[in-house]
Amino acid sequence: MTDVAFQRCISPSCATTYGVEEVRVACGACGSLLDVIYDWNRLGPPTSFDFFEKKWSRRYEPLSLSGVWRFYELLPFAPREQVVTIGEGQTLLQPSTGVGKYVGMKAGRVYLQYEGLNPSGSFKDNGMSAAFTHAHAIGAKRAACASTGNTSASLALYCSVTKLMKAVIFIGSGKISYGKLSQALDFGALTMQIAGDFDDAMARVKEISSQLGIYLVNSVNPFRLEGQKTIMFRVLESLRWQVPDWIVVPGGNLGNSSAFGKAFSELREIGLIDRVPRLAVINAAGANTLYELYERRGLRWSDGRPDRKITDRYYGELDANDKRASTIASAIEINRPVNLDKCLRALDVCQGVVREVSDQEILDAKAQVGAGGLGCEPASAASVAGAKLLVSQGVIGPDERVVCILTGHQLKDPTATVAYHTTDQEQFNKVLGSRGVKRAAFANRAVAVPNELDEIIKAIQLYS
Ligand SMILES: *Cc1c(COP(=O)(O)O)cnc(C)c1O
Ligand SMILES: [Zn+2]
Repeated sequence: MTDVAFQRCISPSCATTYGVEEVRVACGACGSLLDVIYDWNRLGPPTSFDFFEKKWSRRYEPLSLSGVWRFYELLPFAPREQVVTIGEGQTLLQPSTGVGKYVGMKAGRVYLQYEGLNPSGSFKDNGMSAAFTHAHAIGAKRAACASTGNTSASLALYCSVTKLMKAVIFIGSGKISYGKLSQALDFGALTMQIAGDFDDAMARVKEISSQLGIYLVNSVNPFRLEGQKTIMFRVLESLRWQVPDWIVVPGGNLGNSSAFGKAFSELREIGLIDRVPRLAVINAAGANTLYELYERRGLRWSDGRPDRKITDRYYGELDANDKRASTIASAIEINRPVNLDKCLRALDVCQGVVREVSDQEILDAKAQVGAGGLGCEPASAASVAGAKLLVSQGVIGPDERVVCILTGHQLKDPTATVAYHTTDQEQFNKVLGSRGVKRAAFANRAVAVPNELDEIIKAIQLYS
């Protein structure tokens, strides 16, 4: 492996370093998360973005085709020969007039970064390609993850396409949408359904992977976040390398928000950008740990010494009340985000804010996204609902340039979408009413017609 890259504990008072060949999910000295660090002086990274643009003309090379590895020079932790890519990151940034209007912004100010176009249908492939590369480089034969669905779909896909490793995935019982479960099963992953929720599965998979020596690809893995930095590189690329005013992203395990903060810190350190955007992380109200800790209880990065008492007290309360995460946005149905500290650091770097949005707001925003032609799954729409809230609060100005990250594809969770648009009140109540969703303001209801030509024609004329 390259010696210009190493791992380092994120706690500045510890800062223990480890080689990139080591497999760790935490610092051995203090238990904090780890970063992948590069010696930029020795690496001499590109001094202009043109360098990456030129790779577009060489898309016959797998590393130039990949939207992750096109930026290899900004995540050079493994030799090029060991990079594993299946063409991830071919995603797009689309300005959206309809969503912009819904959010309350002036025309042309809201963009949607559509990560649903990844091979497994979510942004997780950006990170998986990087973690998988590391796993392959150190000779792993099995890889595991706990998942609300998309990480497992992604891992299962990389395993089945490359045949380099076997996938072992852990999911909470009854907590995964069919779209995601179907991927893991179809791609042939060993699928363990644990009697519990994501937080339980996460705790177990950490134990099991360390006991059995299985490579862990959850976002506690610092290499995964290296791949997810490239989402921001592509956003900048699509904006002709201009930094937007806001990045709005749903927050679950907080890997993405953490990776985005690192991406902007590094670009500024290298000198490729001279300012960073502001970051808004959006929780679902039913899984709002970050919102509660950051906005209500004042938890901050505090130069690398976040106040543990605040977090311990909050988690103690969750346990005492047996409070479980609960939201229709299953991908962010997480109460104990593993990347909390890194996210606090990102919020510090990017003058961040955190908001919570209800399942009602999420589904209405999702319908607006769908009406604009880029369907997304419920969790993704939290970014749009969050942007709307921040505009209404005057935090985001109507002239600012805002990028909402659409993290996953619409077909990941058809149950939620169909229940929103349904005419069947029973189905609506079962799937959404139980979540406190009262109405479907933007429902596009199917019209029931008898199988008779005249009636069908009449109905079309009536409704179109
Ligand atoms: C994983 C996931 C999230 C949450 O991202 P984090 O990095 O864990 O905060 C949001 N949306 C979708 C669709 C996801 O798959
Ligand atoms: Zn440490």
